[in-house]
Amino acid sequence: MKKWISLVALILVVSIFVPLKPASANTSFSDVGTTHRAQAEIYYLVQGGIVGGVSSTQFVPDKHVTRGEAAAMIGRALGLNGERLETKFSDVSSSNFASGYIKQMVEKGIISGYPDGTFKPYTTLTRGQMAVLMNRAFNYGANTVSVASSTLMDKGIAQGMSDGTFGQELTIKRGDFAVFLARGVNTKFRTVQTETFEQTMYVNTNDLYFRVGPNTSYPWMLKLQKGQEVKYSYAVGEWSVIKVDDLVGFVHNSYIQLQKPSTTIPTPPTGGTLSDLTVIIDPGHGGTDPGGSGNGFVEKNVVLNVANHMNSYFAKTSIKSYMTRTSDTYITLPFRTEFAARYKGDAFVSLHTNALNGTANGQESFYYAQTASTNPYVKESRALAIYSQNRMQETWNLTNRGVNPFGYGNFHVLRENTMPATLVEMGFIDSPKDITYIKSETERQKMGKALFLATLDYFYHYKGRQDVLPLYKQFGATPSKRLH
Ligand SMILES: [Zn+2]
Repeated sequence: MKKWISLVALILVVSIFVPLKPASANTSFSDVGTTHRAQAEIYYLVQGGIVGGVSSTQFVPDKHVTRGEAAAMIGRALGLNGERLETKFSDVSSSNFASGYIKQMVEKGIISGYPDGTFKPYTTLTRGQMAVLMNRAFNYGANTVSVASSTLMDKGIAQGMSDGTFGQELTIKRGDFAVFLARGVNTKFRTVQTETFEQTMYVNTNDLYFRVGPNTSYPWMLKLQKGQEVKYSYAVGEWSVIKVDDLVGFVHNSYIQLQKPSTTIPTPPTGGTLSDLTVIIDPGHGGTDPGGSGNGFVEKNVVLNVANHMNSYFAKTSIKSYMTRTSDTYITLPFRTEFAARYKGDAFVSLHTNALNGTANGQESFYYAQTASTNPYVKESRALAIYSQNRMQETWNLTNRGVNPFGYGNFHVLRENTMPATLVEMGFIDSPKDITYIKSETERQKMGKALFLATLDYFYHYKGRQDVLPLYKQFGATPSKRLH
């Protein structure tokens, strides 16, 4: 099994870092030739899967853009998931191709419908609507059509009409929309250069691909190394536009940070018989995502503290452990699972506290119980969740909400993982009862130790690792009963 874990992890790493040659790379539309006014912009967006033809040979650049199409194209540029979803609009059912984009963009405040509860996905988009949409999608700050349109003109994204107006009631053709969108994404297509690259940031990983567009379908130009200085300008969804030397390109937000990272990679103790085991500790939330809060405490800080305690126990053994974040920084969910795959974890534990308006209390552990193409380690994940729940209960005298499978455990860090994974809710941060433990540094240290021991229990009982036995002794503990 171990061999297979490594193989899966390896495949995942390779697929993240090797630029995929998109199927669209050789796309050629008979109606967008080398002399077409929007040729460069259309093929740039096609390369990243942001726009597509109406067929494999036709783009139909003169067709008008509908509101639904605009939502889908902007949504793809921002890297949103295109899965179809129910929406609140009476005329956008989950069978509508753009329903997922529309729903997510409404939630992000980028797009809105009409007062009568409709979205009108098949109505053609006006230039005024486009200006407001682009402003919200790229965070230019404007909310009115007049400010939004002058912002686009100032940035060299759109031009006015020959009569001096913006033509806000006019409709837009697909070719022209592609030009505006490509300019929004990539400053090299703009008619004037107003973006500055002044914010110094640092790469926090090795061999980071610096790409020509905001997703992994785009080819890369350079590999960046940990600690390397870059100049940041703006973001497109979860991707940052940065300058390296004189090249402008894209990296995922997770891989650059304001503080210069330490370039010495901590080397875990080696040589012990357990050094083939790796545990990934995932403190939930962080940075701009605080998680839940209550009783004057914030989840992101509490879980990082418990994670540090858990990690410090592993640091005293030859089992390797890595934390997905070690400071109060925002990291995405995909970053967490990619990180775990890269460090080839044998177990993944995501730490959280719960919240429900002060009305609930107790502890709960989750695992992902669907097989299919996502995390295949169902039995292992269940065992890890069981041993985690057991140790949490043993440590803090809180209500037992049980070990719960998918349906309930459909979290990205469980579902998209490539190793046995559990997500633990250590207690309710807004509960008057649970907070008596959560707020105490001594209790958090006990919880860190509990989750450390739970991982040992999993290795001992499920993986049959007799060689973890001395560790229990080292920390004054004994193995749990066999529970899975
Ligand atoms: Zn949480």
